Amino acid sequence: MALIVTKFGGTSVADVARIENAADKVLRETKAGHKVVVVVSAMSGMTNQLIGYCEAISNIYDLREYDAVVSSGEQITAGLMALALQKRGVMARSWLGWQIPFRTDNTHGRARIEGIETAELHKRLDEGEVAVVPGFQGVTSRNRISTLGRGGSDTSAVALAAALKADRCDIYTDVNGVYTADPRIVPQARKLNKISYEEMMEMASLGAKVLQTRSVEISMRHGVALQVLSSFDDHIGSDLPGTLVVNEEEIMEQEVVSGIAHSRDEAKITLLRVKDQPGVAAQVFTPMAEAAINVDMIVQNIAADGQTTDMTFTVGKADLARALETLEKAAIECAEIRCDSNVAKVSVVGIGMKSHSGVANKMFSALAAKGINIQVISTSEIKVSVLIQEEYVELAVRALHAAYGLADVA
Ligand code: ADP
Ligand code: ASP
Ligand code: MG
Repeated sequence: MALIVTKFGGTSVADVARIENAADKVLRETKAGHKVVVVVSAMSGMTNQLIGYCEAISNIYDLREYDAVVSSGEQITAGLMALALQKRGVMARSWLGWQIPFRTDNTHGRARIEGIETAELHKRLDEGEVAVVPGFQGVTSRNRISTLGRGGSDTSAVALAAALKADRCDIYTDVNGVYTADPRIVPQARKLNKISYEEMMEMASLGAKVLQTRSVEISMRHGVALQVLSSFDDHIGSDLPGTLVVNEEEIMEQEVVSGIAHSRDEAKITLLRVKDQPGVAAQVFTPMAEAAINVDMIVQNIAADGQTTDMTFTVGKADLARALETLEKAAIECAEIRCDSNVAKVSVVGIGMKSHSGVANKMFSALAAKGINIQVISTSEIKVSVLIQEEYVELAVRALHAAYGLADVA
C-alpha cells in the first residue's frame, strides 16, 4: 500500500467529463489499496480568464486582490472532483489552501510555500478518505490568500507529497511524459523514460512548462519520486507509464544533450549609455529584486569611450511594465531605456555538457545555418541559452533538435 499524491492539470479537468475521467483513475488507485491525495488545477483557460478580469480593471493591480481572484478557479475543480469521487463510492472531501493550511510567504502572485500542516490529512487518509486539494493557493502569515505563480499546482502537489512523505507524486497532464522538446513544436520529439532532477529543473526554468520549476526543486531537495504522465490514456500512475524524474546516478546512458527548451515569456530591456563605474549594476538590479522582478540574462558591453556602456537584460513578459516603472523610479542615469518583447529564449540542456565540449558551437552553427541572429547568450554548467527574435523560435527549436540528433537516439 502506497501513499500517492496525484495532480491533474487544467486540460485533465477541463470539463465535467474529464473530471470524471480523472476520478476514475483515482478510484482505480484506491481499489489497488493505495491512499490518495488529489491536487487539482483550475479548468483549462479559467486562470487566464480570471487574470483577464483583473487586467480589465487595471494594468498594474494589487496582487493581494489578484490572488483572491485567480485562486478561485482551483476551488471549483476541487469541489467537483470531490463530488465525482463521492459518486463513485469513494469517501472524499475538498480542502482549501487555508483549511489545511498551506502556509506561504507574502510574495503575492508568486508566493513560496513555507510549510504544510499534515496531521489532519494523515488522520483522514488512515480512515480511508481521499483528500482533494486545490493547487496553486495558500495562505500568508497575514491571513491573505496567496498563489504560487503560473503552473503552481505542480508545486502544491510536490510540496504536499514531500510533507506527507508520500511514496510518489504523479503529475497527470496532456502529454504522456517529458520529451526531448515540446512535442507541440517538434513532432519528432522523443519521450524520455527518465530524466535527472537537475536537467528537468533546467528544462522547466528555461520554458518547458510541463513542470513548474519550483516543483522540481522541491522534489529534488526532498527526494520525492516524481512522474509525469498522461490523463488521456488508459494507464494509471502505478503502472509507471510516464517519465520518471530521478537522481542522475539512476540514468545509465547519459546523452550530452537531453533536450531543447524554449520560452516566449521574455522581454528585453536595454539601458543605453549608463555610467561605466562601480555600483551601477547594483543601482539597476537592487530595485528589481526589491520589486520581486526576476532578471534573467544580463550583458554589459565594454565601454568604447571609457565613460558609458550599454546594459541589456531580460525579464518575464508579465513583469515588463513593472520593470520599466521600477527603473523609472530608480532614476538611473542613462541616455535612454529601450524595451523589446518580440524576443524568445531557446536553450539546449544536458548533464553531459559538464564533460563534453563543442555543444555551444554546434548550437551557434545550427542557428547561423538558418540565418537566425543571436542577441544575448548565457551559459551554465548544463545549459546554453540564446535570445532570438520571437518569430524564429519554432524554427530554432526544430533546427537544434535535429542538429543534436535527439530524435534518433536509441
Ligand atoms: P497542465 O495543464 O497539465 O499543467 P501544462 O500545459 O502546464 O499542463 O504542461 C503540459 C504542456 O507542456 C504540454 O502540452 C507540452 O506542450 C508542454 N511542454 C513543453 N515542453 C515540453 C517537454 N519537453 N515535454 C513535454 N511537454 C512539454
Ligand atoms: N491554474 C494555475 C495556472 O493556470 C495553476 C496551475 O494550473 O498549475 O497557472
Ligand atoms: Mg502546468
